[in-house]
Amino acid sequence: MKDFTYDIYKEFLTSLKKREYQFVKVENYFNNKYEKDKPLILMRHDVDRYPNRSLTMARLENSLDIKATYYFRTIPQTFKPNIIKEIMNLGHEIGYHYESLAETNGDYERAINDFELNLARLNQLYPIRSIAMHGRPTSKWDSRLLWEKYDYKKYNILSEPYFDIDFQKVLYITDAGRAWNNESINLRDRVDTEFNFLFHHTKDIIEHLNEGRLPNRIMMNIHPEHWAKNSTEWYQILIIRGVKNFIKKILLKRK
Ligand SMILES: [Zn+2]
Repeated sequence: MKDFTYDIYKEFLTSLKKREYQFVKVENYFNNKYEKDKPLILMRHDVDRYPNRSLTMARLENSLDIKATYYFRTIPQTFKPNIIKEIMNLGHEIGYHYESLAETNGDYERAINDFELNLARLNQLYPIRSIAMHGRPTSKWDSRLLWEKYDYKKYNILSEPYFDIDFQKVLYITDAGRAWNNESINLRDRVDTEFNFLFHHTKDIIEHLNEGRLPNRIMMNIHPEHWAKNSTEWYQILIIRGVKNFIKKILLKRK
């Protein structure tokens, strides 16, 4: 059975709704705009490439009255103002998926300029309150280190999940590398946590959910580019992913 399809994603969203999870945009979480006594999920999407696939996902969520946060990279292939506008018009939040220190090879001063410049480009479209680091696997620079020297809060940013969410209390589930919480191919998308769930397939998550075994607070990181609408797309993604994960494994061994 094929995993990472829109049908399965829809089933997952429907199960979350049945269990009465509220979908909270990250900015609203930090503005305390949610119901305190109900379970919640922060549905987060990192838009690394193929922004069109994010738009498809945004539409699907909208059809179920679900709100999410889309973190956009600002590289030319991803920064598409029309797509960003369409996604925000569907009621979703736009965040900034920054990679400034990797972009400037560890030059802090140029990196903060890069951050300011690209944040300003996004701010023209949406008042950005949320940022999240993009872990560029080919770079040795971890862009989060920028915040050892500078302070993102001075840019009206409310949160960077790696620093502002307590993942001992909020379960973090990521599909990075097109597998669930797979640390063997996951270079930087990891958090400190004592939660210990093992999911092989999306169905496993749905099963845990239906049986009430998941905690009341979840952040889910889904890369829309891994998910397919139809069979042709599904095989394309599978092949591309296979090659990328192979390269990532080699890079990880070198560290
Ligand atoms: Zn990313």
